[in-house]
Amino acid sequence: MKVLVINAGSSSLKYQLIDTATQQAITKGLIEKIGADAEFSFTARNGDKIKSAAAAKNHTQALNIVLDNLKDPGNGFIGSLDEIDAIGHRVVHGAEEFSGSVKIDERVIRAIEKCCEIAPLHNPPNLQGILACEEVLPDTTQVAVFDTAFHQTMPKSAFLYAIPYEYYEKYGIRRYGFHGTSHRYVAMKSAEFLNKKFDEFNCIVCHLGNGSSITAVKNGRSVDTSMGYTPLEGVVMGTRCGSIDPAIIFTMMEKDNLSTKQVNDILNKKSGLIGLSGISNDLRAIWEEEIKGNERASVTREVLVKSIRKYIGAYMVELGRVDAIIFTAGIGENDWNIRERCVAGLENFGIIIDSDKNRNVRGSATDLSTDGSTTRVLMMPTNEELMIALETETVMKG
Ligand code: ADP
Repeated sequence: MKVLVINAGSSSLKYQLIDTATQQAITKGLIEKIGADAEFSFTARNGDKIKSAAAAKNHTQALNIVLDNLKDPGNGFIGSLDEIDAIGHRVVHGAEEFSGSVKIDERVIRAIEKCCEIAPLHNPPNLQGILACEEVLPDTTQVAVFDTAFHQTMPKSAFLYAIPYEYYEKYGIRRYGFHGTSHRYVAMKSAEFLNKKFDEFNCIVCHLGNGSSITAVKNGRSVDTSMGYTPLEGVVMGTRCGSIDPAIIFTMMEKDNLSTKQVNDILNKKSGLIGLSGISNDLRAIWEEEIKGNERASVTREVLVKSIRKYIGAYMVELGRVDAIIFTAGIGENDWNIRERCVAGLENFGIIIDSDKNRNVRGSATDLSTDGSTTRVLMMPTNEELMIALETETVMKG
C-alpha cells in the first residue's frame, strides 16, 4: 500500500510517501515558511537534495506543489494520484476522545477541532493539513494518528495532577503525554528485536530529541510518561525547561513584570539546553564546548543527564521488572556520552552497558548491554512516519 504521510505545522508541511510492503519511503520532502517566502525541499530520484522557492500562500497550495512533484512526468514518483491508497496525518492532540487511530470523517474533524483548545499551537495546523487534503483529494481515505493516543492507557493515578479535581472535570487538565507514535513504534520494534511478546514486554523508552519524553511501558501499554498537560513538562529539552517548581513562574512574573505570554515564551523557547548553556539548543555544540573545558556547557549536560536519570529511576520502581531501557531520537540515537551517563553506576540494578558497543553504534538497532546485564539497554532508531503509514494501513484494512 502507498501511504502519503502528512505532518502539517503552522507554516510547514512535511511529507513522506511510504510503501508499506517494503516499509521504505519512496520520497520525502518539506515545504517551509508557508505564507511568506516558502521553500520546497525534497529528495530527487537520484538521491540529490533539491531546494527551490515555492508559491505556497497556504496549506492547500503547498499540498498541490507536493502532489505535482509526486506525479511530475519524467521526474516524479507515481504515475497518477490514484496510486496513493491513503493519507495518514500526524495529529498532536486527541485528548480523551481518541485512544487509537481513526478514519477521518466529519465527526472526527469536529473532535479534533474540540481538542484545539488544549493544543492551540499544534492541532489547528494539523487540521489545516487534513482540510487541504479533503479539498484536493476528496476521494482518498484519510486517517488521523494521534501523539497522545498511546498514553490513553495510563491509569488515573498517573494522569491526574494534585490540583482541585474540578480543573480536570471542567477543563480537562490532566497528563496526556506526547510522542506516543514514537514510543509505541520503538517499544514494539524493541520487543521484536529481543524476541519478546509485546503484550508481556516491560520497558522504559527515552525519546531524546529537541523535544524529549520518557515513557514507562508495561505489558506493551503506556502506564506513565514524562510530558504532561502540554509538551513542556518532563525532562530538560532543547529550548523547553521541563519540570520546574511552579512557584518559579510567579517569581519571574513579579520580579520582571512579565505577562503570562512572556513567561510562556521564556519557558518554551528560551529555556532548556539553550537557556542553561547560553550556547545552543543543539547538544552537539554544547558537547564541543564541554570538551574544551567550558563549565557552563558541562553543567548543562549534567543537568540534562540528571533529569533523565530521575525518570529512569522512577519508572524502574513503577515497572518492577524492566526488560529494556531504550534510547531513541536525535540525542538518544547519536550521543553515546549521554547514553553512557544516563545508565552509569546501575550495576546493582542489573543494568550494565558495554562501553565499546555503546561508542560504536552505527545507525541501526543495537544492544548496548553486556551479556550479564539483566535489563537490556538498546539504541533503537525511531520512525514516526513509518508508524503512521502502518497505522493507516491497519485502519484501512479494518
Ligand atoms: P525533533 O524533536 O526536532 O524531532 P530530533 O529527534 O531530530 O528532534 O533531535 C534533534 C536533536 O538531536 C538536535 O537538536 C541535537 O541536539 C541532537 N543530535 C542530533 N545529532 C546528534 C549527535 N550526533 N550528537 C548529539 N546530539 C545530536
